[in-house]
Amino acid sequence: MQLANNNYRLLQPRPYPARLSLVIPMYNEGLVVPFLTSGLEQFMTELRGEAEVVLVNDGSTDSTLKQIVEWAQQNPRVKVVNLSRNFGHQIASTAGLDYATGDAVVLLDSDMQDPLRVIHQMIERYCEGYDVVYGLRKARRGETWFKRFTAWLFYRLMRRLVHKDLPVDAGDFRLLSRPCLDALQQMRETHRFLRGMVAWVGFPQTGVQYERLPRVAGSSKYTLLKMMKLAWTAATSFSIFPLKVSTVLGVIVTLLGLEEAVRAVLSKIFGWYVVPGWSSLTVLISIIGGATLMSIGVLGEYVGKLYEQTKNRPLYLVSQTVNVGSVKEADGNRRVETFGKP
Ligand code: UDP
Ligand code: MG
Repeated sequence: MQLANNNYRLLQPRPYPARLSLVIPMYNEGLVVPFLTSGLEQFMTELRGEAEVVLVNDGSTDSTLKQIVEWAQQNPRVKVVNLSRNFGHQIASTAGLDYATGDAVVLLDSDMQDPLRVIHQMIERYCEGYDVVYGLRKARRGETWFKRFTAWLFYRLMRRLVHKDLPVDAGDFRLLSRPCLDALQQMRETHRFLRGMVAWVGFPQTGVQYERLPRVAGSSKYTLLKMMKLAWTAATSFSIFPLKVSTVLGVIVTLLGLEEAVRAVLSKIFGWYVVPGWSSLTVLISIIGGATLMSIGVLGEYVGKLYEQTKNRPLYLVSQTVNVGSVKEADGNRRVETFGKP
């Protein structure tokens, strides 16, 4: 188990959260809603304080919206934030966090992969004074060594690229305190990797271990392509390391070119071969061409990010809300429109 060892301040015990917000992004989770409803209704009765559920519909094309609105009409503690289209998991989570009003906020998946009882342990750590309590996935049994190796490599690489405090084997399932959330909300960058942003924010952070369950219904909304996109966003939005890589690549290719040049001169002087081989030239040109294009590509990624960030668009658009108080609603929209807190 690896915990971020960053107790940047003394832990101050705090009271049980008077209001706990549960933020849940949902995309085509029609099959899951009945399980989620019964699970959460039960869970809310176990809490010692008030509870609030913020459901974000991330442009679902199935019955998700209809079902969650019906639930919200029966239970005023359930709030629905309907986004104008699919914005992706990270942005949908951001929207939910913006609308949460609790002293402590828990971000979780809708598919019940993150067991609700773990939240009680998170609250305990929160009461000890921790501002961030993330769920640490226990080593998943029955996984191939290849899967474990790639996961191991991924998290090590991410720590190098994103933040040294990025917890290993932790997903987005976590509890955040209000001060930490307020800090997070000041970060309105377009390309978001929430885990990395939470690590950047700092504050005392810790983890609780849990066994990740299989989905109750439906299939994963994270395709391999989406996973790779997230990894790329994580790598390029937190560090300029990839830019450095292209520089290093440039140096290596230049050295290779120099070596070829020396060889050409020497062979001319000593007459090693009469007709200089065109194949070595072709190889060299392709290597140089490839390296140049790669470097431009990496550079382009960053320029593209700059371009999108300077457009200053809102992160998301909300088309409808249910059970969201008018004050909070106005507040949420203002935050979105002004692109960061004043
Ligand atoms: N999700 C979302 N927008 C998307 C993709 C996913 O809001 O574009 C939600 C999804 O409904 C679920 C959570 O994000 O509640 C995590 O997705 P999923 O369970 O499919 O990912 P996995 O657990 O397989 O990594
Ligand atoms: Mg899931």
